[in-house]
Amino acid sequence: MTTAIELFIEEARGVSVVDAAFSLGLVGPTFKGNHAGPCPVCQGKDRFAISSIKGAWNCRSCGIGGKDGISLVAHAGHIDLRSRAGFLTACAEVLGKPLPNEAERETEDQIAERRQRIAAQKAKNEAAAAEREKQNNAYRDREVKQSRGIFFNASVEPHPDVAAYLRARTGYDMPAVVFACLRSNARCTYWHGRDDRGHEIARHVGVAMVAPFVDLAGHVTGCHQTWIDMSLEPKFRPDLGRDDKGEPLPTKKVRGTKRGSLIPLFGLMSSNRWVGGEGIENGLAIAGAERFRKDTFYFAAGDLGNLTGPADPESRFAHPSLTKADKNGKQRRVMVVGPVPKADQAPDEAMQVADHVAELVLLADGDSEAVFTAAAMVRAEKRLAREGRTIETWCPPVGMDFSALMTRY
Ligand SMILES: [Zn+2]
Repeated sequence: MTTAIELFIEEARGVSVVDAAFSLGLVGPTFKGNHAGPCPVCQGKDRFAISSIKGAWNCRSCGIGGKDGISLVAHAGHIDLRSRAGFLTACAEVLGKPLPNEAERETEDQIAERRQRIAAQKAKNEAAAAEREKQNNAYRDREVKQSRGIFFNASVEPHPDVAAYLRARTGYDMPAVVFACLRSNARCTYWHGRDDRGHEIARHVGVAMVAPFVDLAGHVTGCHQTWIDMSLEPKFRPDLGRDDKGEPLPTKKVRGTKRGSLIPLFGLMSSNRWVGGEGIENGLAIAGAERFRKDTFYFAAGDLGNLTGPADPESRFAHPSLTKADKNGKQRRVMVVGPVPKADQAPDEAMQVADHVAELVLLADGDSEAVFTAAAMVRAEKRLAREGRTIETWCPPVGMDFSALMTRY
């Protein structure tokens, strides 16, 4: 072996896993710590890990890993390291420069074999992705259908507990038209978990308020259920027991598709003025305070993410004061999801506002942490900004939400 090749190999061995991962586009230039993401070979979501601390990579699914850039580049490029020529090819790849002249090269056959391995893996990945997509679509269609059934089977005649719940949580009597959307089911089953034979377990049967999620065309895409127990102040929600982790089971449930849709509360979508936030109760508390303005459409997004939409990951920032212990017990600043919306969002990533809306009022939740809420609301405003549209965010006093505020009086 000549010195030129020895040097070449030595140089290639010096390329770290992190440097190789960066040149393969698997991590960013400033990556540090632990990365989990799709495998460059078998894809998936988070099965592929890189640790800058250990200087190592591995794929759970392929069952392979390594501690140098050569092994990672070989894995990503389907290069067979068992042959001398394959090893040298991987060295050239990791260095990003050609082999020295006297080096042994992959033969035509070896190159053809490698191409075949790449093509076979690609076909396998595509087939798996198509199958997943098919199953997802079938599941989604079934869910949407069932959620429509749950909503349309609920009654427009308000159950006394639903009317009492809304009065107690908003401070106002609801006009009858509200119950066209916020329907009642006197005996709504709360399913959670499965028994030994795989059957879903009914944890509770009781009064529920059933609201639809609709898209801008008015089609029902999902439903939102809130179980009610008027004997349990102050939130009037039943105790449904705990999940496997010991957390109380949520008394609200969403079925079907929520993202991109909204819950109509009062008024017409054709209105020029829209007012809404995360929750049904807050939206109705403001509608009540405004005496259900005829020129306004009141809505709820169902959750904060559906209101604000996803963030540009680059806009993440450290919280000015909040800290949390990392796994080594060291206090680190908590990171806040940033104020900049993710670029090029699809309409199904967060709730949409009709183009004609000229005045939009967003309602912030005052009982969430202030910095998180501020970043989220700025993101929502930026996402929904349009030429000729005014947008404001209304915030309740610190530590309260609107529904708590209105029911004080
Ligand atoms: Zn893999």
